[in-house]
Amino acid sequence: MTQDAIQIQGLRKTYAASKGAEPKEALRGVDLNIPAGSIFGLLGPNGAGKSTLINILAGLVLKTSGKVSIWGFDQDVNPRQSRASIGVMPQELNLDPFFSPREALNVQAGLYGVPKADRRSDEILELIGLTDKANAYARTLSGGMRRRLLLGKALVHHPHILVLDEPTAGVDIELRQMLWANVRKLNEQGMTIVLTTHYLEEAEEMCDEIVIINHGQVVARDTTAHLLGSIDQKTMIIEPETPIATFDVPNGIDLSVDPSGALHLTYRASKTSADAVLEAVRNAGVTIRDVRTEQADLEDVFLDLTRSR
Ligand code: ADP
Ligand code: MG
Repeated sequence: MTQDAIQIQGLRKTYAASKGAEPKEALRGVDLNIPAGSIFGLLGPNGAGKSTLINILAGLVLKTSGKVSIWGFDQDVNPRQSRASIGVMPQELNLDPFFSPREALNVQAGLYGVPKADRRSDEILELIGLTDKANAYARTLSGGMRRRLLLGKALVHHPHILVLDEPTAGVDIELRQMLWANVRKLNEQGMTIVLTTHYLEEAEEMCDEIVIINHGQVVARDTTAHLLGSIDQKTMIIEPETPIATFDVPNGIDLSVDPSGALHLTYRASKTSADAVLEAVRNAGVTIRDVRTEQADLEDVFLDLTRSR
């Protein structure tokens, strides 16, 4: 059995009512374990509850109920150890404009009680590419540099787990690639990575495993490879010259007739050739007026899973 970096059971969060707004149930009973050593993706549309979940892990938001263990430490029993095990790069840019990058890292290390001798500010500045900006005023940093500094701040206490909340939202390609290169490097060194995103390509490229959450609940969990495997599915849509009822098709092909009379033949491209599908149709005596194919992509899988329920 592999060790879990994070274990979550029955996690609920209801934000209290405020200024005429109703109370908001942001998490509605989440069970989730995240294996140590993985790059784990939390996907979901805006408002799904991703940041709430992450902020609870970070100790920034108080859960309403449920159990959270980080690196084996129950958050309620061992709050200090559980907080020390995790570093979070938040979604919001929340940097103090009066600190230079080096100062910001030192202050953060101080907050986490990292002894001066164990601080590795220079190493972190190097990693995030801010060595030559180490002593610059934060207000002179570009948006991209500020994001990199947020990553650096998440690393000051050498956490086992690094959590990134929408790290590349609104970020240019160059910074995105730099962030991903850093994340991969940290993962290779043994750090467990959890990231949220609503960019599917990003999850596809980076994550070993993906959980999809919607309306505060986990709606799917799978390895990225398996989720992508389901995209192997293709549909051939054929308009027959004359209307036809369904007919027998070979194994591996699924046939339905839509209200307009078009035949929808669904099959796995890796197992069944388009030619075999056409042959099945011809064998049934169908004269083809028009034909087109549709291929599902991760977007479809995602939409399908996150459709309101
Ligand atoms: P995500 O990060 O997936 O976009 P969030 O966790 O930020 O989702 O939000 C989940 C839900 O909780 C949303 O409906 C959001 O409006 C609500 N929410 C988030 N933070 C607060 C808060 N501090 N007070 C009240 N409602 C909140
Ligand atoms: Mg969010």
